[in-house]
Amino acid sequence: MKRLIEEYRQALEQRHDWHLELECPSCRRIGLPQRDGWSETLAVNWGDNPTIFMKLTCTACGQDLRETAGQKLREEFGGIQITKRNRLMIRLFLLFILGVPILAAAVMGAGVALELWGADVFLYLVVFAFLSAPGIMMFNYQIASLRRQCACGTPDYRFLGMLGRSYCYACATCGRLLRIRD
Ligand SMILES: [Zn+2]
Ligand SMILES: [Zn+2]
Repeated sequence: MKRLIEEYRQALEQRHDWHLELECPSCRRIGLPQRDGWSETLAVNWGDNPTIFMKLTCTACGQDLRETAGQKLREEFGGIQITKRNRLMIRLFLLFILGVPILAAAVMGAGVALELWGADVFLYLVVFAFLSAPGIMMFNYQIASLRRQCACGTPDYRFLGMLGRSYCYACATCGRLLRIRD
């Protein structure tokens, strides 16, 4: 069990990185910014608002380049849609999380109305609450699998930041861009 949890954690782990060139707004230097790790930000994830987690500064003048990187993220990923597979996963998940219990409750309710069984049958709905935790874990694992494969054959997706509520990745091997929703 412990190993399983460790594998799950590793599968979900994402590498923060930034390897796109930026133009510094103060000294006009164009190039890769200085990267000093990442930190949580108070993100406003509505619309197509970019959120950059990496601490990025200009290597020449030290200017904070987070905002510039946000604009770049919007330019690069604005036209990219999440994949069909990603959309299908979200739909299946909603079906599982909402649809199955609602359907079960309806069947139970009909049975009570027809006096096939008593109202205590609704206690079985608790089962779905227990099933939802592994269900959510499975979903997260499936979503993470989207960035463990790439057409180039050696996937190495780095997390650049968020655009709205979607996650923006770029493959460090081939440069392919990937936008994921969960
Ligand atoms: Zn600069
Ligand atoms: Zn690739």
